[in-house]
Amino acid sequence: MRDLFFLTCGRLKSPAAALASKPTLANALATTFMSITVAVVVRENGDLALVDAGFSSPVCADPTGTLGALRALTLGVDLAAQDSIARQLRALGLDPARVKTIVATHLHLDHVGGAADFPNAEVVCSDRELRALFRMPRDAGYRVDDFAREGRLHVVDLGGAPMLGFPRSRDLFADGELVLLDAHGHTPGNVAVAVRGADRTFVHIGDAVYQSWEFSAATPGPSPIARLTAQDREALARTYGAIRACAADGCRPVIVPSHDLEVFRALPHAPRAAATTNAAATGA
Ligand SMILES: [Zn+2]
Repeated sequence: MRDLFFLTCGRLKSPAAALASKPTLANALATTFMSITVAVVVRENGDLALVDAGFSSPVCADPTGTLGALRALTLGVDLAAQDSIARQLRALGLDPARVKTIVATHLHLDHVGGAADFPNAEVVCSDRELRALFRMPRDAGYRVDDFAREGRLHVVDLGGAPMLGFPRSRDLFADGELVLLDAHGHTPGNVAVAVRGADRTFVHIGDAVYQSWEFSAATPGPSPIARLTAQDREALARTYGAIRACAADGCRPVIVPSHDLEVFRALPHAPRAAATTNAAATGA
């Protein structure tokens, strides 16, 4: 791996109570924002791999027109044209055509709708998630049409050994750079993805939790929104235990939920080369 950084594809707006451990009058009236976090891996050969891809460019440019007013409202989308991951990559000097791999934590629209902007990328998902794709009602967030092209989907089984606290794994490139981990519960095939950075390992856990407090031992989730969206709450509770074990691993991985804006803010947001250039330009 040559570089690793994180982008957010705009934001999602939510009543604060939906993400809180305890509903109160104050958080019932307040609004909070969630990130839509995407990991960008620059591989040694210059190709790019993404963990999730956010919404597509057409959705970012016109959420109401593409999703419909009701769906845009219930999703709480807060998007603009420049938020698409393809556009952000271009702004950083990276060619979206070099995106060859998108690992989908799961197949909800806010995670893989952006695959439409990366025609050269295969979309990697777990076999359980693919089976669920064809069982789900169309309005559950899945868009079969995005994946219908032959050869687009790379379906993997997580038959590998337990790793980083998770019960099953799949080392995508057989080099430890990107490892899929079984974190189901939110959807039948939600995976966490361990990404080995230069100094730290980051584990993008998709929607296994919405906010980091949900996997804590002291005040375990689910939050109201996680309870509402979970396909299997018992599996979700087991996944919380796996995330706790992961966080306690000796390599001190950084746990990255898709929608935790506070966690997102603390992550690197540009390639190291660009960050160095910016620091030099500002004299920092
Ligand atoms: Zn989801």
